Amino acid sequence: MRKKTQLIHGGITGDEKTGAVSVPIYQVSTYEQDGVGKHRGYEYSRTGNPTRFALEELIKDLEGGHRGFAFGSGMAAITAVLMTFNQGDHVIFTDDVYGGTYRLVSKVINRFGLESTFVDTSDVKQIEAAVKDNTKAIYVETPTNPLLKVTDLEKVSQLAKAKNLTFIVDNTFSTPYWQNPIELGADIVLHSATKYLGGHSDVVAGLVVVNSEQLAEDVHFVLNSSGGVLGPHDSWLLMRGIKTLGVRMEEIESNTKAFVEFLEELPEVTNIYYPGLESHQGHDTHQKQASGNGGMISFDVGSGQKADQVLRNVHFFTLAESLGAVESLISVPAMMTHASIPADRRQELGITDGLVRVSIGLEDVEDLKEDFLQALRK
Ligand SMILES: *Cc1c(COP(=O)(O)O)cnc(C)c1O
Repeated sequence: MRKKTQLIHGGITGDEKTGAVSVPIYQVSTYEQDGVGKHRGYEYSRTGNPTRFALEELIKDLEGGHRGFAFGSGMAAITAVLMTFNQGDHVIFTDDVYGGTYRLVSKVINRFGLESTFVDTSDVKQIEAAVKDNTKAIYVETPTNPLLKVTDLEKVSQLAKAKNLTFIVDNTFSTPYWQNPIELGADIVLHSATKYLGGHSDVVAGLVVVNSEQLAEDVHFVLNSSGGVLGPHDSWLLMRGIKTLGVRMEEIESNTKAFVEFLEELPEVTNIYYPGLESHQGHDTHQKQASGNGGMISFDVGSGQKADQVLRNVHFFTLAESLGAVESLISVPAMMTHASIPADRRQELGITDGLVRVSIGLEDVEDLKEDFLQALRK
């Protein structure tokens, strides 16, 4: 089955009993049992719900994994995966990881004794140098947020296998439509499904796919124990969004390419970060492991003041956090998504005050270009 077909026919489709083409929303908390301890596959909706299960089967198929899990947000999914580790374990993370992940690891999970080191994972030697006796996992984001740095998934998976480490990938930016980390050797794939998978700025959700029964048991144990599950209605909304992931990603791809070409001609704009550009740091690696470049672009407009001017004057770019929606979104990472990272660390990472990040949507790209230009030159 090819990707676009799998988006429609993967997982569990429809309802056998009635022939309904859309998976029913099982808005239910508990299930009648046929006898004590004798149930028909479902006991209680924290443990399992048929609508959520249909979504979990779909994402499992899309990522080519062993089992999928749906959580109430991307952060709930990441929290659950990190809670499969023990006090005193050590995990190596990509240094410009999503701001919320950095906050979770350095301000919450650390209180329970999980040790962490943040390195530039685009350089595999830095990961290798950070491995300690108690290291249990490598956690990578590629491309990253907002500088779109690329990590070589195959190389990292070889290192992880050699050192017996669990290899975790946050695949939010590329989506399973463009990139499948499990096929490249990852053990666990995570998504903020709030972004491209949902795609319509109307649901907050997180997904996890694991490649083995042992990891499935570990993650499900935490899911069921800590309870951060996705509700049936949101599970249904997410399946609805995923059906059009292919057409959305193809259209976003061509819009983004055209917008980058336009940005390259503007003298006010410098340092364009986009994995589709040959000049981009991780261009070759990204082309090797992903079949599309996605809709995220970051670039510098010179100063925080200029960035603020652009954001205040655009009409078709919505000033908002988040990404991956039908509407184009614009943000200034230093003041918004990455504000929780200390200022000196932001500078170190290259997240300057004038750095603007856009998530290209499905508008006519000519309108996006005209709109951006008038805001930049106002
Ligand atoms: C948004 C995001 C998250 C967090 O997901 P939520 O659904 O907002 O909790 C994690 N990783 C990446 C890369 C993200 O963009």
